[in-house]
Amino acid sequence: MLRKVRTRNYTMKVFKFGGTSVGNAERMKNIYKIIRSEEKVMVVLSAMSGTTNALVEISKLALSEKKEAAYESLQAMQKQYIETARQLLENDETACEHLKNLFSDIEPFITQAPQPYTEAGIVAVGEKLSTYLFHSYLKTQNYPSALLDATQIIQLDSQGEPDVKDIGLRLKSELSQYNEAKVLVIQGFICSDAEGNISNLGRGGSDYSASLFGAAVQAEEIQIWTDIDGVQNNDPRHVTNTRPIRRLLFDEAAELAYFGAKILHPACVLPAQRSEIPVLLKNTLHPEDPGTLISKNHEGSGFKAVAARDNITAIRIKSSRMLLAYGFLRKVFEVFEKYKTPIDMITTSEVAVSLTIDDTSHLEEIVNDLQLYGNITVDHNKTMVGIVGNLNADETGLAQKLFTALQEIPIRMISYGASQYNFSILINTEDKIRTLQALNNNLFE
Ligand code: ADP
Ligand code: ASP
Ligand code: MG
Repeated sequence: MLRKVRTRNYTMKVFKFGGTSVGNAERMKNIYKIIRSEEKVMVVLSAMSGTTNALVEISKLALSEKKEAAYESLQAMQKQYIETARQLLENDETACEHLKNLFSDIEPFITQAPQPYTEAGIVAVGEKLSTYLFHSYLKTQNYPSALLDATQIIQLDSQGEPDVKDIGLRLKSELSQYNEAKVLVIQGFICSDAEGNISNLGRGGSDYSASLFGAAVQAEEIQIWTDIDGVQNNDPRHVTNTRPIRRLLFDEAAELAYFGAKILHPACVLPAQRSEIPVLLKNTLHPEDPGTLISKNHEGSGFKAVAARDNITAIRIKSSRMLLAYGFLRKVFEVFEKYKTPIDMITTSEVAVSLTIDDTSHLEEIVNDLQLYGNITVDHNKTMVGIVGNLNADETGLAQKLFTALQEIPIRMISYGASQYNFSILINTEDKIRTLQALNNNLFE
């Protein structure tokens, strides 16, 4: 059998810095300290923290015809950016003028009639601002660098998906112009759609950009720098006493990201995993900490971490026609396919099937169509909790531990056995925090 040979680009690493890590002039200077010992590095930046949220608000104002209010917020934001630029770039007036131009790029999106890409056009400026500032700072340090435009590099296909090969080709031609640059600065999150309009990879998408770029250049390593000491064993926003996990398998990290561990965008593991590029998560506020290394190498067994995802809707289809019949599930799945709605979790009995979705935009039509096949019940405001680890099916005692931890929690659905790395339950959202805490106390203490 022929084995695909990968040519790893051992001289290039991809470093992604999130919103907090680029949050002010000092933090930007800190990034320079982190990367300057690297031989060649692609630096993927998010918008400064708070910027994307503020731009989303501005686009809401613009889209609801509150144009004056949109301009006011924009002016306030521009003022803050000019202040940051003065601190970072020692009153470089040309840079301040350029920043103003970036802000004026937003104006047509506010004045024009609303378009499907209006919000994307407005929020994209966040990443343009942070990358421009950082690149300008590198110039003040006489550090050889180049500023790339992610909208020219990532173009989504007609299904709204990025293509690593295409990104690789575009990057290759771009990079050939900048052989001397030790740092290639590029925006995370933003891209263009199949028609060439401005678009993005969804909130938190800079992680995904970094993984796509890493896979596209076959980088030696992808580093994701954020504001916490790596992936924690539970959600630190809800549970006290979480601790960092030092090693994770790609599959475990993918499950955690998918189940809502905000530190990683749900799609970001796959491109790195396919190219077997290790992903290291590090803390810019505490760079000495080793962080979390995600790789294909196996380490440890048992429970590793817990994560939760809200806004889940459960649908139950109950039908005696299911009894000993074949083809029933296909018909049910076809309804979801028709409305392009992904199913997340599924459990079956002889006469009923329960499944969950998080995109409810076609719920009414879905329920209508499903009524052909049985009685339908819909439950909103559910939370999916994923318990992730290397859960070896031959090992005894794991289920007992889980059920002991969950003894006080009402559970709507349980899923286990689909992958070796995950046990998931569906609960009421109001029980989320005590569920996470109970799992913490029983599985990890
Ligand atoms: P960035 O802006 O750098 O992308 P994010 O806010 O997107 O950072 O992600 C980091 C945050 O994710 C942490 O500050 C933490 O509150 C949250 N988080 C949720 N679950 C986890 C987890 N399991 N491990 C680490 N952080 C988590
Ligand atoms: N700036 C974008 C957001 O806030 C992308 C990112 O930070 O990853 O969602
Ligand atoms: Mg993030």
